[in-house]
Amino acid sequence: MPTPSRRSQQIPFSPIRAMFRLADEMERAGNGPVIRLHVGDPDFAPPDAVLEATSRAMREGKTHYPPSVGIQELRAALAEKVKRRNGLAAAVEQLVVAPGSTEALLAVMEIALHPGDEILLPEIYWPNYVQQTLIASAKPVFYPLGAGYQPEPGGARSAVTPKTRAILINSPSNPTGAVIPEATLRALYALARERDLWVISDEAYEDIVFDAAHVSPGSFERDLPESERRVFSLYTFSKSYAMTGFRLGYIAAPTLLASTLLRKIQEPLVGSTAMPIQWGGLEALRDDAPIARMRDAYRRRRDLAMSLLKPAGLVDYTPEGAFYILADVASTGMTADEFAVRLLRECRVAVAPASGFALAPEFAPDGLPVGAMTPGGAPEYPTHPKARTRVRIAFCVSDEELREGLTRLVGLAERLRTGRSAGTTVG
Ligand code: PLP
Repeated sequence: MPTPSRRSQQIPFSPIRAMFRLADEMERAGNGPVIRLHVGDPDFAPPDAVLEATSRAMREGKTHYPPSVGIQELRAALAEKVKRRNGLAAAVEQLVVAPGSTEALLAVMEIALHPGDEILLPEIYWPNYVQQTLIASAKPVFYPLGAGYQPEPGGARSAVTPKTRAILINSPSNPTGAVIPEATLRALYALARERDLWVISDEAYEDIVFDAAHVSPGSFERDLPESERRVFSLYTFSKSYAMTGFRLGYIAAPTLLASTLLRKIQEPLVGSTAMPIQWGGLEALRDDAPIARMRDAYRRRRDLAMSLLKPAGLVDYTPEGAFYILADVASTGMTADEFAVRLLRECRVAVAPASGFALAPEFAPDGLPVGAMTPGGAPEYPTHPKARTRVRIAFCVSDEELREGLTRLVGLAERLRTGRSAGTTVG
């Protein structure tokens, strides 16, 4: 058999998939369902009007190849949305529709990065960023997060080298739920201007913000001439409208040139985004009420999770957005990976160890990460020490499941602390 490319061998798996597999195995083995707190997929249904508009589009024959950058009607509505809600100044031509912001991120990296370039990523991050960076033949370099997982602009500045070409900002953050305040965003943006970097702003959770306000870095350059703009703003219907399975996202490109390049990149990457889905998305934009309803539910669940985890000493900050909490299980004496497996086996609760959100590959002079692929299909990369004892809890389940799952988690942590865990089972 010919050898698969080194690059394909070096790309890590997403840690969430590993937990999926283990949770499925547990359920197949019997003994009842697993409470799934490891995956960020809303438990809500998409708005009825969206379902209706999508199926109507199919019945009306809107089933042919759409333009690679999206149908004009949706792009026009998105240009209006990013102006009204995000404070961006983007012409319709700068809006590029994508089959989810996952693909949009890769398309943007293809434009922002030459092979061998460096991109600054937060040190605890959504794992796809590193997968995508490696697909783009670039190198991830990590900037530090301080208290509450807030980026430290001084640390980001120290991480810039002559090869740095872009900085990725993710607010609200997956996996931490941190919402970055405007002053920090402005400091990161100022650094990008000073060092002539692209800014890739992943705003997938823009609508799920509880106590703070969501600020779009692209709004800082609203009044600048196009030649000076640098922010790619990325959005998705997945989280705001519980439309994860639709696969619909979009990019507001900083310039017309950037959107022209995106048009070119989209052609070979995806062709285009499914036509009926785009009509469904257009309908979603007509009504903000479902967003507010879901946000209220997430806020309630965040408060519920904090009320259980904080007294147990398992969390030292309050997530202000998205639907995730990073809990710290250091007091149990276990690593996050050990704790997650134990929690699944003994208590039938799945959480995602944060080690997978903090892989920090080292690089050889040939530009590829150091490490050989294991039989599992990826190398074992070192992880950032901060993540070693943290687990990500996603509160995209009912309040009852969340309460039950976290009660079991807290119980296990307490038993481990007091050394009474042996032989424990959950009824
Ligand atoms: N960005 C972040 C931070 C995410 O957590 C996700 C999904 O979990 C995405 C982007 C991608 O969303 P989608 O591809 O569904 O638009």
